[in-house]
Amino acid sequence: MAEEHTTTSEKKEEGASLHFIEQIIADDLQSGKHQRIHTRFPPEPNGYLHIGHAKAICLSFGLAEKYEGLVNLRFDDTNPEKENQEYVDAIRRDVSWLGYDWNGGEFYTSDHFEQLYGFAVKLIELGKAYVDHQTAEEMAAQKGTPTTAGTNSPHRDRPVKENLRLFQEMRDGVHPDGHCVLRAKIDMAHTNMHMRDPLLYRIKRAHHHRTGDDWCLYPMYDFAHGQSDSIENITHSLCTLEFEVHRPLYEWFIEQLGIFPSRQIEFARLNLDHTIMSKRKLLTLVEDGVVDGWDDPRMPTISGLRRRGFTPESIRTFCDRVGIAKRENVIDFSLLEWALRDHLNRVAHRAMAVLDPIKLVITNYPEGQTEDLPSENNPEDPAAGTRTLPFSRELWMERDDFREEANRKWFRLAPGKTVRLKSAFIVRYVDHIVGTDGRIEEVHVEYFPDSRSGSDTSGIKAKGTLHWVNAATAIDAEVRLYDRLFSDPTPDGHEGRDFKEFLNPDSLEIRQGCKLEPSLASAEGGTPYQFTRLGYFSLDAEHTAKAGHPVWNRSVTLKDGWKG
Ligand code: ATP
Ligand code: MG
Repeated sequence: MAEEHTTTSEKKEEGASLHFIEQIIADDLQSGKHQRIHTRFPPEPNGYLHIGHAKAICLSFGLAEKYEGLVNLRFDDTNPEKENQEYVDAIRRDVSWLGYDWNGGEFYTSDHFEQLYGFAVKLIELGKAYVDHQTAEEMAAQKGTPTTAGTNSPHRDRPVKENLRLFQEMRDGVHPDGHCVLRAKIDMAHTNMHMRDPLLYRIKRAHHHRTGDDWCLYPMYDFAHGQSDSIENITHSLCTLEFEVHRPLYEWFIEQLGIFPSRQIEFARLNLDHTIMSKRKLLTLVEDGVVDGWDDPRMPTISGLRRRGFTPESIRTFCDRVGIAKRENVIDFSLLEWALRDHLNRVAHRAMAVLDPIKLVITNYPEGQTEDLPSENNPEDPAAGTRTLPFSRELWMERDDFREEANRKWFRLAPGKTVRLKSAFIVRYVDHIVGTDGRIEEVHVEYFPDSRSGSDTSGIKAKGTLHWVNAATAIDAEVRLYDRLFSDPTPDGHEGRDFKEFLNPDSLEIRQGCKLEPSLASAEGGTPYQFTRLGYFSLDAEHTAKAGHPVWNRSVTLKDGWKG
């Protein structure tokens, strides 16, 4: 896996070739079409951002960064019923955490409601929009099919004056919800269905989280979105491929209204296996209590990944490796994990923890004696320094590291075996104690005093190295091990079946009574550590506060062990 990804990165560095959007921008700057680019990221505040949004963020913010342009954060808040402030705050937090700053400003589509209304009035005056009194069903029936033309509404040729009066009445609250709509007057026989007199405004008495009850009519996405781009002087409006068919409409509005010619460019959305990315479906998981909130460490949300222990750098690297393409594909979840390992290997301090502890007694070590052994914080980074590990007669070792019977290929402890204890001494098996339930309770070894790491003169060879924690000073902790949230690679790709049928029942394993080295008492929430031989972990501050004891999350294993 790792090798495969390195190859991609090498190719990138060598070629330094531009992807198709960068090429367009470079040309626009070179030709003088734009002096400075201006992009935007337009989330709808109806849920938390997920890893797919991260790709869109890295693209729009990344381009502004690369070409020294501007980028706006625009909350696309035209559906008052589903949107709220909690989502706005979470989106802001997530974009900032990724390391981006909306240097062009923060906007809300609702900031533009008055101007958008003015654009609609202008379209009516131009004879390019009309108020339609038909029901949704009637309009749907007239729409035609992709191969047959639609039919004109009986209200299509209303005089401009009447349209202006009716539209004003819609705004003034004269008509009940759904009584009439404003439609663009384009072409009911157009080959592109989106051009067949699309809806521009609908009446809806809904309380808006920003404009309150000021409005009882709200613009449709296509009308609000493109015109907001023009209002904000966006030069390159980047969106996912499903909007490609909306582009003729996007351009039609700009042409009719003579407003700033923003250019829409589409790219392939990010799809990850074993993951769902629909905000609606993610919300169901939260509402049904399948997960512990939007930021559950198993969620593909940015806040979930953060809580799991992902770093902004790893997510940016991931998005970079995925690249920008015109064709949809599905990315392997393990690429995301690779990006995290790659970053944490460089920056995470090492520490020792035993997740399934059994006692290890060093029979020839004096009772009551303790010594402090130095251990490197990060072998990849000498500047990270060292810490000391207390060592004494009684330690904890991993249950998995002992076998009552073992062959020549077993390099851990077993009768007859010799191993090194990491940063400490070489020890040799002496005996073990089995409890009445048949489980191993203690392993007894003797140590070689002259085999101390760093000053080993014993001449003894030990093939395996085990991690351990000093028993008397160990911190008791809860450790949460996570796995894929779904056991199926495409949980929402099975027709007629609910995506929840494919939830992985083993996505969360909670271990109590884990033993951590004492230096971790001062660990801070979110700071990554590599637990020797086990993986990368970080303290979950929120769960720790709730539980009253330390709770750690496993961010990712050391190696790609997924066999999905
Ligand atoms: P919904 O399913 O509710 O429409 P959405 O995921 O499209 O949600 P938006 O808030 O409209 O959510 O998305 C903001 C921006 O993020 C859009 O420009 C959209 O194209 C982009 N985006 C959303 N999902 C992905 C994805 N999987 N990959 C890349 N970009 C995405
Ligand atoms: Mg959307």
